[in-house]
Amino acid sequence: MPFNHVSIGNNGDYQICCIHPVPDEHKKNINQTGVDDWVQNPYLKQVRSAFERDEQHPGCQRCWQQEASGTQSIRQVQTKEYKIIGAKPAQSRILHIEVAVGNLCNLSCVMCSEYNSSAILAENRQLGIAVFDQREFTWSESAFENLQQILDYRPRVIHLRGGEPLYNKRILELLDNFPAEHARNTLLHLTTNATTWTPQWQQVLSKFKSVRMMLSVDAVDELSEYIRYPGKFAQVEHNIKQIIKCDNVKPMIHATVQNLNIMHIGQVIQWAKRMNIYLMLDLLVQPEYLEITNLPPVLKQQAIEHLDSVLTQDLDSHTQSEISAYKTALETAVFDQPRWQRFVDNVSRRDAVRKNSHKDFLKY
Ligand code: SF4
Repeated sequence: MPFNHVSIGNNGDYQICCIHPVPDEHKKNINQTGVDDWVQNPYLKQVRSAFERDEQHPGCQRCWQQEASGTQSIRQVQTKEYKIIGAKPAQSRILHIEVAVGNLCNLSCVMCSEYNSSAILAENRQLGIAVFDQREFTWSESAFENLQQILDYRPRVIHLRGGEPLYNKRILELLDNFPAEHARNTLLHLTTNATTWTPQWQQVLSKFKSVRMMLSVDAVDELSEYIRYPGKFAQVEHNIKQIIKCDNVKPMIHATVQNLNIMHIGQVIQWAKRMNIYLMLDLLVQPEYLEITNLPPVLKQQAIEHLDSVLTQDLDSHTQSEISAYKTALETAVFDQPRWQRFVDNVSRRDAVRKNSHKDFLKY
């Protein structure tokens, strides 16, 4: 990946990949630094040279550890999926980019952070708990010019994240300007909350060879609107029905499994089935107070019973093994009162601002 890939985090910092940040002394930011300067970065050169010598660079430990334990690393997934990584150093050119274009987002999902959502940051300011300033995530004109320069290398895979990419007009403009003759050979990967879908987006996306849309939906109806506040589920469902009509779009539902939806996960499984879209369940890891195991005994028992009933349904192998793993995690979890209190405190202060209540979904 260090030879063919460019990764940019939400604050505009160049990264080796999305899980390999650059140490402070070598950090470069897209607001000030173009990609031609970035590829001369001593740290990037150090990582490349470790690969050339067949050595395991310490910053790549997560991949090496995953591979040693028999799980697929990001490196292996990319190699298999896009068949472009692992080219010889002499063939170094930008083939694959993953860019988080700031944190601009129209939603403030309960599990999200200031890093990924401008709406959460604004709400945190209102609550007096903001850690960042919105200016730390706002892209300057030079940043967009530098991103244009990266796109001018005509990468074969473009992965755009936000924030919410479909809510960002500048991303729409950049993709609109991407030449159709190159788009025909380019795979575009978008992660979206599906609250925004317009004829312009449909037209711009139609010129790409293929568009992988990861559609973030963790629940249906009111619970979806609670978790992905202030999104409207009917709008999301309507948009997804339009999106999947596009011939070149390969959709996937991505659900973040947490204590708020574990007791209702069967509904999202059924909904994805009705929509005929593959569902990927992904266990939440942060914030820790939203983990599925953070439930008092009565609710934990209800969740186990719900998972038991889900397991009697006709499930694909991924869903079956995820649900079984969640059930085991709940059965072995020990109730942690201070952690539960952190959940109650954190969601209650957001409820007060949003004028809704988590108690509509967790009866305790
Ligand atoms: S839609 Fe995505 S980026 Fe926006 S708040 Fe929700 S999780 Fe965060």
